[in-house]
Amino acid sequence: MAETSQKKVVTRFAPSPTGDPHIGNVRTAFYAWLFARQHEGEFLIRIEDTDRARSVEGSEEKILKMWKWLGFDYDREIIRQSERKSVYGEIAEKLVENSKAYRCFCAPERLDAMRKEQQARKEQPRYDEHCRNISAEESDERKNNGEEFVIRLITPEGGETVACDIIRGKVEFPNNNIDDLVLLKRDGFPTYHLAHVIDDYEQGVTHVIRSEEWLPSLPKHILIHDALGYELPNYAHLPMILATDKSKLSKRHGAVSVLDFKAQGYLPEAIVNFMLLLGWHPKDGSEQEVFDLDDMKKQFALEDVQKSGAVFDYQKLDWMNAHYIRRMESDLLYDSVLPFFEKNDAYKGLDFLGNNETSELLKRALRLEQDRVKKLSEFPDALGFVFFEPTYDNPDILIWKKSDKAETVDRLEMLAELLNGIVSWNEEEIEKTVKDKIESEGYGNGDTLWPLRVALSGREKSPGPFEIAEVIGKEKTINRINNAIKILG
Ligand code: GLU
Repeated sequence: MAETSQKKVVTRFAPSPTGDPHIGNVRTAFYAWLFARQHEGEFLIRIEDTDRARSVEGSEEKILKMWKWLGFDYDREIIRQSERKSVYGEIAEKLVENSKAYRCFCAPERLDAMRKEQQARKEQPRYDEHCRNISAEESDERKNNGEEFVIRLITPEGGETVACDIIRGKVEFPNNNIDDLVLLKRDGFPTYHLAHVIDDYEQGVTHVIRSEEWLPSLPKHILIHDALGYELPNYAHLPMILATDKSKLSKRHGAVSVLDFKAQGYLPEAIVNFMLLLGWHPKDGSEQEVFDLDDMKKQFALEDVQKSGAVFDYQKLDWMNAHYIRRMESDLLYDSVLPFFEKNDAYKGLDFLGNNETSELLKRALRLEQDRVKKLSEFPDALGFVFFEPTYDNPDILIWKKSDKAETVDRLEMLAELLNGIVSWNEEEIEKTVKDKIESEGYGNGDTLWPLRVALSGREKSPGPFEIAEVIGKEKTINRINNAIKILG
């Protein structure tokens, strides 16, 4: 675990409310949370909503709901940058007063034309410092006359800006590549660059843990700190999340929003465990894949996070989810699958909420598929045979491959009678009764158990016949066997 100075660790998640929470951002937030909890520090949430055009109504609620659903918490009150507009404006004006920044009155059309010319010359687009030397008097006057402006930082010519990243070590950036960046926009809102620096400082953030996409902007942030006289926090830039084809993970690869994963029946524990391994693995070379929160807190080390992109493997997520579904306690499993049954058209009109036969049947039935499904959403289809009587497109599936119709009907008739005689109806008893009979009569397992299983499930592949029989009960079991006999006719 990284040694930290005496200061209490403070990390944060600073989402922009621009849509559904992407798994990559959430992984980053989770590492920040985990790091804070490892160090008995604080973890804050800050809503970065200064880009009014990109803000999407309802995003903040979604993000917070998702965070809670994953089982995470946060400290202090949430702050919203849109409510702090005047703070950033005043600080930006202070920078102008102190000659660390200046007002730029260039019209957007001029900037556009400039950019196009630079591109035509194959130069990196950058601001040409046109307004840098406007005198303070002129600048104030134009402001007072109501002329629109942005505030830009004065950046140094030549030299290098050097920083230290917890994951990447020393990183150096030539200053010539940095132009006079905008701190305050025409609408009076700050840019991300200015706002997050001020907030991180005012909130006492000690470790800025964020996505690699911000690494190229780091020198700008360092220059802003310098201009403001703020001490630098520690930085950790986390690797991007890539698809298996090594491109940036996006919707075309599959679900990317945590809410979509939830809707598809992934469990929060599985997602959290999976996210842990999106960029970090135990350093001792152990193959451990399953971690509970205590393990995570003990073992995770920010400095061991990989530098290269983390590949998102949907199959592995499925495996992880299946693992956590298998471990679920039956009451919790029941509560968790209910929404999937309720929104499935095939189950319309069935009441799972009361203490009735249907809900009891579902409670008993879940274990039939608990070891097989990968997602909660698979339960309704997988358990259709429990609730609905089998129908056969092809009744021949009732016949074991080494048997024939006459023998199958014979076995099913025998089974109907045999099972009818069972008094205490449970899996063990049913299994024992049937197996004893097979043995004493010299029947084959296949020619007896295959038709029994298919008669109960209507499927070529299904859980075993004895467990199904116990779950659906004696009456349905016998009815289904008789029905199969009739169908084979
Ligand atoms: N609002 C920024 C984003 O969502 C935050 C980046 C950061 O963590 O500083 O990308």
